[in-house]
Amino acid sequence: MLEPADLGPGARGGFTPRAGGVSCGPYAAADGSGGLNLAFHVDDDEDRVIANRDLLDRWAGHHVAWMSQRHSARVRLVTRPPGAGRSTLGECDSLVARRSGTGAPAVAVMVADCVPLLLATPSGDLVAAVHVGRQGLADGVVPATLATLAGEGASVPELYASLGPSICGRCYEVPAELREVVAAVVPAASATTAWGTPSLDIPAGVLAQLAAAGVRRVQHVDACTREDERFYSFRRDGVTGRFVGVVRPA
Ligand SMILES: [Zn+2]
Repeated sequence: MLEPADLGPGARGGFTPRAGGVSCGPYAAADGSGGLNLAFHVDDDEDRVIANRDLLDRWAGHHVAWMSQRHSARVRLVTRPPGAGRSTLGECDSLVARRSGTGAPAVAVMVADCVPLLLATPSGDLVAAVHVGRQGLADGVVPATLATLAGEGASVPELYASLGPSICGRCYEVPAELREVVAAVVPAASATTAWGTPSLDIPAGVLAQLAAAGVRRVQHVDACTREDERFYSFRRDGVTGRFVGVVRPA
């Protein structure tokens, strides 16, 4: 069910496509088959979302830990898989999971154009799922996550990183003032759309922040959500589902 991410020998994870679940209507796959929408907040039928999340829990071997995403730079540390019905761990945009005696938590980030970033140490003892939109990029959710991982004992240059499908710089049109605000903090994110207007390239910004921190093992799944119907895209469809990046210690 996952497009696999290269996260080294200690962790496994990847990105969910739009197809392969039981959601209908605007949440269905591009060919009209059942969609794998994993978000409750987008007005999909709740029982169908639960069935879709069950598929992900089955892959993980236990309940996946979710965050209530707020476009912030807030990071939370998870040390055990959540119990049933308590899988949302609060308001944050980065979940760092540490393998412990009580388990190897799987953590997920939900997106439909923002960058889902997954990280893992070579041992897999530490993994992370990060939500990076323009606000999180400018506010530094990526460096904040790297600092948390380092604080837990990770060697940042040894980390594996994988950026999943997201809207690309040719598609993500923004007002010129907004581009200037973000580019003042992350110059690499400044871009131009395919039709010649100001835009932001969020994945380029994330890649620049990872490079500046010394992360070398970086995979970029270079698929644009707005252009590639295998993934949900809010910019393309408005009312639609959410897909995820998910990672757990191997
Ligand atoms: Zn694009």
